[in-house]
Amino acid sequence: MVSLKTSKELSDMKLSCQISAQALKLAGELIRPGVSTAHINKMVHEFIVSQGAKPTFLGYGGFPAACCISVNDEVIHGIPSDRILRDGDIVSVDVGAAINGYTGDNAATFAAGTASEEALTLMRVTEECLYKAIEAAQPGNRLGDIGYAVQSHAESFGFGVVRDFVGHGVGKQLHEAPEVPNYGTPGRGIRLMPGMTLAIEPMINGKGSAVRVLKNGTVLTASGSLSAHFEHTIAITADGPVILTKA
Ligand code: MG
Repeated sequence: MVSLKTSKELSDMKLSCQISAQALKLAGELIRPGVSTAHINKMVHEFIVSQGAKPTFLGYGGFPAACCISVNDEVIHGIPSDRILRDGDIVSVDVGAAINGYTGDNAATFAAGTASEEALTLMRVTEECLYKAIEAAQPGNRLGDIGYAVQSHAESFGFGVVRDFVGHGVGKQLHEAPEVPNYGTPGRGIRLMPGMTLAIEPMINGKGSAVRVLKNGTVLTASGSLSAHFEHTIAITADGPVILTKA
């Protein structure tokens, strides 16, 4: 069942999304060569708690940290550790904060120091995929329009769209219906309606769409190529999509 939020529910949900966005922004500011991913996680965790919210990911499915931090060929679900970031690493942070009975969810990929031209292009195109997908999330459009927007843009650069993991509805729960794939056929799938709140999150690999999953849950590109990930929580309104996780 896809839940449609009333405007009161949407305004109740806004705070969780705003704290999620600020937490992501903070993570981005901390990313540089020489810093451990555990340190970034610690600061993000403390920030979320300081806002009176809870880190949504902590304990979710047994996840041991406040945010996922995935480096280079890690796609998603990277676990913060004593790994020290090096110049040129690309670092995907995925974080959500829960408050007032709602959660937000957002992600972005940042460069530590100076990333390669290849890495910067992958990051730029993945972020463009996100904004093209949001633009497609108009009431009356279909779910397939969102996926098509991501897929067509990523593949025009020869990049691979991850298919084994997808975006999702979000609100009272981190993962709600519907699933929001990053691939699709225009005009297909359920109709997008005002009141839907979706986490749209293209995960794009430099090469190939295949991934492999480690025992600890971390997802890597099967090819060993870099991967990038950008995500916003949005609300579909009668006037069009609204980004709730805007910092
Ligand atoms: Mg998500």
